[in-house]
Amino acid sequence: MKDAPCTISRILVTGGAGFIGATLVGRLLAAGHDVSVIDDGDGLRHRRARAELPQARWISVDMARIDLADLLAGFDGVVHLAGQPGVQTSWGTGFDEHLRANTLLTQRLLEAAIGLESCRMVLASSSSVYGEIITGTACEDTPLRPLSPYGVSKVACEQLMRVYVERGVDAVALRFFTAYGRRQRQDMALSLIIDAALGGPAFPMRGDGSQARDFTHVDDIAAAIEAALFGSIPAGTVCNVGTGSPVSLVALIDLVETITGMAVALNQVPSAAGDPVRTAADVSRAKTLLAWKPTVGLAEGVEDQIEYQVAVPSSVEQRSQTLPVGARCGDYGLHQVGGPA
Ligand code: NAD
Repeated sequence: MKDAPCTISRILVTGGAGFIGATLVGRLLAAGHDVSVIDDGDGLRHRRARAELPQARWISVDMARIDLADLLAGFDGVVHLAGQPGVQTSWGTGFDEHLRANTLLTQRLLEAAIGLESCRMVLASSSSVYGEIITGTACEDTPLRPLSPYGVSKVACEQLMRVYVERGVDAVALRFFTAYGRRQRQDMALSLIIDAALGGPAFPMRGDGSQARDFTHVDDIAAAIEAALFGSIPAGTVCNVGTGSPVSLVALIDLVETITGMAVALNQVPSAAGDPVRTAADVSRAKTLLAWKPTVGLAEGVEDQIEYQVAVPSSVEQRSQTLPVGARCGDYGLHQVGGPA
């Protein structure tokens, strides 16, 4: 079994209209790669990604409804980001969709890759496979004790990868720790915090806000994916992609308030099942195997996300009626609210 393809000429990104996917596709196109994207999302953010990245070949169908062996033909690099993210939606009957979009789809893609001569596949896993990381950092050998059905669906994806690697499929999995940055999904905490600072709805803070996350900038995540795609790491490798420096929700809110000069209205709600108190990545393996390390500082990344949320029409629509004219807004591009995207 080879460790990795020598060269990759045609790349398929599944879920490429999503948060991480669109960032990755932009980088790959900028580097001159031939990129195709499959994504059936039809929300504003998906349409926006398609409009922003016209050089990619876009396939807008549900992957569960097509022959994936046909889809994979001709590609020598596949980044599989299509899936159903989110912990809270995985409880109850929501797990049906997580099983379908995460576990079943991953199995079908791996099955379709059996026998392909040269096709490196990078799969999206998650810090949710670990569950609680009370102290220190989790390395890839830390026992997996997911706290949510979503985390279990991702453990299953990794185990499926291991099984199919035994059958000759050239796949690796990256465990992303809480991604943030431009195009962040609007259900994610930082996006909601920024909207609250800009005059949108109060941020629904679970518990006392002491829960800490290893926030990882989406550009750093995309760089790690590229390193796994083009580098020579052995098939079957799993690798953390994080920073090792968890930050509490309260500290994140403080940071947004400092940058914007505006208060974040809070709506305190009870803690939710499945949400770990703390996540933190040991990224030694990524440093060694991928020659990768995080490069974007939290303040820099948050400031950039604020500017993005001010500029994109989806956020402007939500906020334009309520944004106060703050004296400190100009420094952060907040004066653009209501103006062109
Ligand atoms: P996202 O929802 O923004 O992107 C996923 C994309 O997949 C969407 O655009 C969706 O339309 C598409 N998709 C889903 N099912 C599909 C199907 N059957 N056919 C075609 N397209 C389909 O999510 P994201 O935050 O970019 O996450 C990408 C991946 O990374 C997911 O697998 C997620 O579980 C994983 N992950 C994300 C984070 C994070 O912090 N964002 C952390 C850990 C892991």
